[in-house]
Amino acid sequence: MIYDVIVIGSGIAGLCAAIKAKEQNLKVALVSKTSPLRSNSSMAAGGINAPFGLLEPDSHDNHIADTIKGGDGLSKESFVKLLCENAKDAVDYLESVGSNFDKFENGKYAQRAFGGAGKKRTCYVGDKTGGAIVQALMKKAKAVGVEFVLDHYLLNLLHENGKISGVSLLRKRDSLVVVYVAKAVVLAGGGYAGIYRSHTTNPQDTSGDLQAAALRAGLRLIDMEMTQFHPTCFVGSGSLISEAIRGEGGYIVDENGERFVDELLPRDKLARAVYNKSLTSKVYIDARHLGEDVLNKKLPTFRKSALSTQGVDPLTEVVQIQPSAHYTMGGIEIDEETSTQIKGLYACGECAANLAHGANRLGGNSLLDAVVFGLLSGEKSAGYAKNAEFNNFDYKNVIRDMQLVNQILDNDTKYNINALKKSLGELLYKRVGLYRDEDGLSRAYDSITYFKGILTGVNCSLKNRDDNFELIAILEYRNALTVAEALTLAALNRKNSIGAHSRTDYPEKPKDSKHSYAEFRSGKIRVGFVGLSKTDRFLSKIAKLIKGS
Ligand SMILES: Cc1cc2nc3c(=O)[nH]c(=O)nc-3n(C[C@H](O)[C@H](O)[C@H](O)COP(=O)(O)OP(=O)(O)OC[C@H]3O[C@@H](n4cnc5c(N)ncnc54)[C@H](O)[C@@H]3O)c2cc1C
Repeated sequence: MIYDVIVIGSGIAGLCAAIKAKEQNLKVALVSKTSPLRSNSSMAAGGINAPFGLLEPDSHDNHIADTIKGGDGLSKESFVKLLCENAKDAVDYLESVGSNFDKFENGKYAQRAFGGAGKKRTCYVGDKTGGAIVQALMKKAKAVGVEFVLDHYLLNLLHENGKISGVSLLRKRDSLVVVYVAKAVVLAGGGYAGIYRSHTTNPQDTSGDLQAAALRAGLRLIDMEMTQFHPTCFVGSGSLISEAIRGEGGYIVDENGERFVDELLPRDKLARAVYNKSLTSKVYIDARHLGEDVLNKKLPTFRKSALSTQGVDPLTEVVQIQPSAHYTMGGIEIDEETSTQIKGLYACGECAANLAHGANRLGGNSLLDAVVFGLLSGEKSAGYAKNAEFNNFDYKNVIRDMQLVNQILDNDTKYNINALKKSLGELLYKRVGLYRDEDGLSRAYDSITYFKGILTGVNCSLKNRDDNFELIAILEYRNALTVAEALTLAALNRKNSIGAHSRTDYPEKPKDSKHSYAEFRSGKIRVGFVGLSKTDRFLSKIAKLIKGS
């Protein structure tokens, strides 16, 4: 199949990119391993930030300062500005395609408080914001003529002489490796928090496939050690209790019913406070005082999931919580136009390292990132495709993908893929979790090396070629191991504590914040640091002074 632009990933970033590219009269495909309704985007609950200032005076500058403060000194000013200065237009755009945000009686957007924000800045659709946005964008994408290529799994990027040529995909219906050629490709495959299986708010297929494919294609990954833990998740499942509950005034309490922390702290600080308290007491979210009207109208998903998963009614009872891996600030290196180091290849949304978020993303800024940078990726990739020729690629790379798929399908298996994924999740939560140290990280690295060493024995027990879920799970696991290795090595190498990365053996904050990178060199993942420019450091300091942090 031949396209001008191929977008991989049907979350909000991918949908926005595909719509924008298609509006330039090009042939555009939106490829995804699942339905758009199963993306993280469609699970997003609490809302999207935009400084409309409808309840209290607000501005781009306030939003910029809060985002930089939240990022703990690792945000890059140029990315923050792009994100925040386009926020109101982004929400208006979503409204124009039919997202139908909640409104006050005067017809203006309703806005709620979110952690780390000085103002009530988060627009929402009850606690189903992501689902509403995805449905509206899907309709729009279909209306403008984007071709949906669902149930196709990206295996690798095809490129030659520094230019993109297309992608190799696994067609799930018959497990065939197929090649899709394009002048430009946009990667919008989401993050990798799902690799913390059993300790994550993400579905387990959020496995960092595209980050691993980018690494194999010779690209750098940035800030891979920056895993954000969400402070309020259901105990046991790890699934999310939206920040919207705290935004609406919910409390976090210990087993004596005492509040012990400011519920609207940025997530890194709040997650650690919840974790620390949980060492001596159970921790709960208390929403009883919000009343039936707020719970039913503004937070219906929370009430339903508390009832169905925990058997607890938040109207009359407190709900026990724990932190879980939720979002990954790290990802594929991009510039301010979402370009990567391969010409014609772009990345946006959670799979890219959007330097706006620094070492800790603010709640409500991720959906915003997906829209602002998704639209930008669509525009830039289409602009590139209009003037580009199709590029060659070496078919040997496709044959290698076919051989891997055949090997996993045909060879005997010695291991249970579910058990392996769970072990990896437990390992990462324990050793590369909210707190890290040299000993734990080294042990994690050794375990990951062991897991890699036994990969040839990890094959399908079911040999059918139609919709073989085990095959996909194994491919995802292989990518998860690559990403876990980059994450652990970057965490080992960062000998200080900043934002989401907290080293008990190196608690000091770095004087000179730098972004880390991971790349393949001589067949191995190597890590190092990229410097921040002097201007960024200066602006970051000014923003901190203004906010008095
Ligand atoms: C439970 C939950 C609640 C959240 N609530 C909020 C919120 O209220 N506000 C906020 O700002 N953020 C929130 N977030 C974060 C936010 O939802 C995500 O960061 C954002 O939606 C990411 O969008 P995306 O388009 O980049 O990726 P995703 O929505 O994750 O989409 C990735 C897409 O890539 C596809 N894909 C991945 N790998 C492959 C492959 N190998 N081949 C083909 N396709 C592939 C997937 O199938 C999917 O379609 C929440 C996250 C979760 C998990």
